[in-house]
Amino acid sequence: MDSMPLKQSEAIVLRSYPLREADLLVTFFTRAEGKLKGVARSAMKSRRRFGGALEPLTVVRVYWEQREGQELMRIDSCDVLDSPLTATVDYPRAVALAYVGELLDQLLPDHEPNDAVFRLALAVLQNLRAGAIWMPLTYFDLWLVRLVGLLPELHVCIECGAGLDGQRAYFHPLADGLMCAEHKRLVSSEMSWESRLLASEMFRQSIDSFAGASWPRSKGADLRKFLTQRIERHVEKKLVSGAMLERLD
Ligand SMILES: [Zn+2]
Repeated sequence: MDSMPLKQSEAIVLRSYPLREADLLVTFFTRAEGKLKGVARSAMKSRRRFGGALEPLTVVRVYWEQREGQELMRIDSCDVLDSPLTATVDYPRAVALAYVGELLDQLLPDHEPNDAVFRLALAVLQNLRAGAIWMPLTYFDLWLVRLVGLLPELHVCIECGAGLDGQRAYFHPLADGLMCAEHKRLVSSEMSWESRLLASEMFRQSIDSFAGASWPRSKGADLRKFLTQRIERHVEKKLVSGAMLERLD
């Protein structure tokens, strides 16, 4: 059997789970070809070949073979470029990392490269530190929702078109945008003007410009809730790690 030339790409490991006895089924977000699934043969036995490279949210260079007509690629090897495990992993950071992985896995279509989302994910992973998860999560939610086309206009009421800047604004899991005080639905939540200003600021500046500033969980919480509702409405289910984030102290 002729061996095929290997493909390669920078990639983020999204998830991996055991398949048969010793293999791992791994989902990658590759820079070159988008989201791909592959099998790492004997990965459970041969730590030498893959080491910690298949841990979720590890940034790697992956080498693989894809045969015509086969859905799963055969993973040949992985070089670790950046591992989340080199920095402190406390429980909140572990949940935040799982959340980033789950969102990418849920929102990205297979086989569609998206360089803007790839660069966003790299920047967010670099900023996601123990004790400082809420700023990078807010930035990630906001930009990801925008880049996959799920962000509604934040300046007008979706029902009447009235301008909302400086006014009170409301949102609801089943509404696709913000509403004015007159058109809000029952049991709507309010999104503060401060959080809407924060969103415009995050669209203008890099994530690094927000690093270092104190960012309690309460900051932008209404904005994150709104964005999570957009995502869950789109994927038509609750995010597992989203519920875990909500339960953090
Ligand atoms: Zn209105």
